[in-house]
Amino acid sequence: MTQSIEIVRSILEKKNTMAAKKKGLKPLNSVSMTDRVENILRDYFQENAFKPGDSLPGELEIAEKLDVSRNVVREALSRLRMLGIIESRTRRGMIMARPDILGGLERVMNPFILGKDTLNDVFEMRLILEMGMAEFLFARKTAQDIEELEEIVASQTSIEEPTKEEEIRFHTKLYDMTGNETFTRFQILLLPVFEHVFKKYRKGKTNTPPPDHIHHDGLVKVLKTGTVNDFRNAMQTHLKPYFDVIDL
Ligand SMILES: [Zn+2]
Repeated sequence: MTQSIEIVRSILEKKNTMAAKKKGLKPLNSVSMTDRVENILRDYFQENAFKPGDSLPGELEIAEKLDVSRNVVREALSRLRMLGIIESRTRRGMIMARPDILGGLERVMNPFILGKDTLNDVFEMRLILEMGMAEFLFARKTAQDIEELEEIVASQTSIEEPTKEEEIRFHTKLYDMTGNETFTRFQILLLPVFEHVFKKYRKGKTNTPPPDHIHHDGLVKVLKTGTVNDFRNAMQTHLKPYFDVIDL
């Protein structure tokens, strides 16, 4: 796990260094003091095999041992808290939190605190996920799932133009059908971002889908009688307005 994180980090770092070179910037020789304290604390937790619920040294103690200011320690701790690595308890001070890959993400996935590039990346990521779920849907779908999807479609106010809530209900059910809980939660936290970017992009564009557009009823039909590939094609058509926005 740590090793794969290192691999991803090194790829990203290489990319960043290359970008910096392009702009004529020199790579930083030293990371900020907060970054250093954050890294030291991460290593410390790992080396001492802290488990969820274990008490951690307080801000003052850490500041004294590392010989840095309390402000720096406070900032590093607040990052770790934000990421869901540690949490504060009223009487016990700080403790190790239960590991949860999405916990930290849920807190930062707010369209108003993410940068424009991240918003666009998240927007694209959702399309990647939607296109990749076909195999799982076909392997794990049940008769009851299909029935539920049909009910969702039947309750839509309009087949051609579902409301935002109806759109979310339908796609959330598809994610749910993959049987992967992390995946389902992941898409739920992507939704606000997706919506935000899409609205911004669509400004001034007409909302009428082309005649060959595949709506939710069409997707359900393919899911019932088609193949994995049919579904992938249908989903691509369904998501075409979104792909058009990106202009690949
Ligand atoms: Zn849809």
